Amino acid sequence: MQLPKYKKKKRIKLKICQEPGCGREFWGHPIAKYCELHRDIKQRAKHKKEFESVDVKNMVFKHNYTEVLDLEFCCCLDGCENRYIVKVFPKQFVYPRYCLEHRNDFRRANFIRMQKRKTRAMATAH
Ligand SMILES: [Zn+2]
Ligand SMILES: [Zn+2]
Repeated sequence: MQLPKYKKKKRIKLKICQEPGCGREFWGHPIAKYCELHRDIKQRAKHKKEFESVDVKNMVFKHNYTEVLDLEFCCCLDGCENRYIVKVFPKQFVYPRYCLEHRNDFRRANFIRMQKRKTRAMATAH
């Protein structure tokens, strides 16, 4: 059997880095997304954490505890009454905002969709 021969064409384009706040122009393949610096995954991961900051999945919980505690929180998703235990650490104020189930983006979106359907059904019930 013979392996197919691919012609290696270099299709290099001038691209703009997709990393938020970078926007640097660079020459790369049409599918390339990041400049030389941000092609290094470590450079991006750092950013991503900041980017996914407080509002989306986390909340700020201000406290004065000086030792590690297990606290019970109620899921912040409208209509969800699940509770979840969070380990609260001294001087750490950012904690997950949703129950274990709804930390998953897909499930959360699904739940919101179901809730909307429910409220619509209630509105038309009269
Ligand atoms: Zn970049
Ligand atoms: Zn929930």
